[in-house]
Amino acid sequence: MAKIGVFVCHCGENIASKVDTGNLVKALSDHPGVEICNEYKYFCSDPGQETVKRAIRENNLTGVVVAACSPRMHETTFRKACAEAGLNPYMLELANIREQCSWVHSDKEQATEKAIEITRSLVEKVKRNNELKPISVPVTRRALVIGGGIAGIQAALDIAGAGREVILVEREPSIGGHMSQLSETFPTLDCSQCILTPRMVEAIQHPNITVLTYAEVEEVDGYIGNFRVKVRKKARYVDMSKCTGCGDCIQKCPVKKIPSEFECGLGNRTAIYTPFAQAVPNVPVIDRNRCTYFKNGKCKICQKTCQIENCIDFEMQDTWEEYEVGAIVVATGFQIQDTSVYGEYGYGKYKDVITGLHFERLASASGPTAGKILRPSDGKEPETVVFIQCAGSRDPSKGVKYCSKICCMYTAKHAMLYAHKHHGSNSKIFYMDIRAAGKGYDEFTRRAIEEDEAEYLRGRVSKVFEENGKLIVRGVDTLLGKPVEVEADMVVLATAIVPQPDAKEFAKKIGIGYDEYGFYNEAHLKLRPVETATAGIYLCGACQSPKDIPDSVAQASASAAKVLGLFSREQLEREPVVAAVGESTCAGCWGCVYACPYNAIEQKDIRDRNGNLVKQVASVNPGLCQGCGTCVTFCRSNSIDLAGFTEKQIFAEVMAL
Ligand code: SF4
Ligand code: SF4
Repeated sequence: MAKIGVFVCHCGENIASKVDTGNLVKALSDHPGVEICNEYKYFCSDPGQETVKRAIRENNLTGVVVAACSPRMHETTFRKACAEAGLNPYMLELANIREQCSWVHSDKEQATEKAIEITRSLVEKVKRNNELKPISVPVTRRALVIGGGIAGIQAALDIAGAGREVILVEREPSIGGHMSQLSETFPTLDCSQCILTPRMVEAIQHPNITVLTYAEVEEVDGYIGNFRVKVRKKARYVDMSKCTGCGDCIQKCPVKKIPSEFECGLGNRTAIYTPFAQAVPNVPVIDRNRCTYFKNGKCKICQKTCQIENCIDFEMQDTWEEYEVGAIVVATGFQIQDTSVYGEYGYGKYKDVITGLHFERLASASGPTAGKILRPSDGKEPETVVFIQCAGSRDPSKGVKYCSKICCMYTAKHAMLYAHKHHGSNSKIFYMDIRAAGKGYDEFTRRAIEEDEAEYLRGRVSKVFEENGKLIVRGVDTLLGKPVEVEADMVVLATAIVPQPDAKEFAKKIGIGYDEYGFYNEAHLKLRPVETATAGIYLCGACQSPKDIPDSVAQASASAAKVLGLFSREQLEREPVVAAVGESTCAGCWGCVYACPYNAIEQKDIRDRNGNLVKQVASVNPGLCQGCGTCVTFCRSNSIDLAGFTEKQIFAEVMAL
């Protein structure tokens, strides 16, 4: 006979101010099967949980209903309490009378009535619950890290440093990401390449890391602890195992005027190229769309130049490799917004209107001007540079609604670098407000103003145009309350940080969620910031939201810690809420096979004792099943049930309303 305990939580005033908990207790106390019903201010607190545990032991309860907040918040807490008191944790139900009643209703009487109904229906369900046991699945202790920027490199090094294997996949010919394009980094002004290159080299030389560059993840199957990943290695046309990185082929390639993506078009590259001098691996790749041989069938000068036999191979094809991994870290990074939508700023029209990333290349010692700040139009040193912040960010009309987070800081850095490289510099910064909340960040922007004489003008720019060979920046100074016009030799736009163009498509491929912009969603913004809703897949860096280097590195180490926590076990316990097919009634129509979004259902042969095929039925792989219940609704012969949510349980719940 069922002996159910009902525990009504006040959640401080959260519930009690809108739900008459006394009435709720009274209504449930008389409900058939309810052995004990009481209320308390915070059942999630230690004394609250002790009350539940004591009641289970003293009354030999067969089931528990806690009327409180959402299961997402405290289901684990109360399941643990039940287990500690000797009750199967799946004999617990959480009636959500906070989010579904007190928070959404203003009428106390109606909120109370609804709370009674919800709690009563869960009492009926829990009476029909069965004891369930977690499912054990093995864990493959190898991680996949997607993206070889600073976040991906850091995550890979942390995991590998703890003795676990890592496959690091980067789609560009070299690892390094955007950080390799930067000159100095805020707030310490240390050289980006100097701090990044040793980490890149460490990653490629690490015995536990396999670096796959010029490669893309094409398919991801499986589940936490047991993913199967298919990676496409694009044809490089240069044999990685033979190339010494001498660069002779690059020197001799006759196609020399291809705008370099790495230099943001401010410099050129050849058809066979490494993206930058410190590239890792230092092995060139042939751009087949620009190569004379691939276009006309003639040339092969690089091959003739190369001293190593068969190192350059024009017959090379893409290859596919499959890996089994237990966890995935997504670190696919960001892009900058296409600034051409801001026609009023003259980007694309005037050569000397550039983006912050262009400025980084100009300021970089390894850049196209060897670190001199020179105007792209005539190579002269600019006397006045105007920086425009929020060129795309916080602008719902044309750009993006959010703050790109790093622009205030890198603009201050640009003004400082310009002052250090060009004495007598004159930099003016149009800003909306300064967001410098990070360690040493506010001091850094102050230094730009006080020591390097950057002049901040609070206001928006309405137009940039050319007059008598000068760029005129027209805007408004909102502090003075008057329009301003500034003559500039160069204009630098702090463009918005946006997701990678294929971010949404890629998220669908690997099965993670994304927000309205295409940044990847974390499981919980505050409590699970590096986990995705898909167990075993973690996030780090700017693929989640705009982020600076310190935050990206911290988040990378956090996701590595999550992976190592997962790998600390040989077996993993999973929720037993999975579907099961009744083989005797299954008609073999395969409706469920096609309906399952996780490919968790397969066809199974039923044979007699002589091995003759009797029939084929659907069969659920409990390791893959996520308990979504889609198959249950699709089965026309009513042959599938979901453990913990059987038809009997749901029906009882509904009938109690
Ligand atoms: S074959 Fe292609 S990559 Fe090689 S030298 Fe000629 S153009 Fe350059
Ligand atoms: S939908 Fe139902 S009947 Fe059809 S294969 Fe799946 S379990 Fe069998």
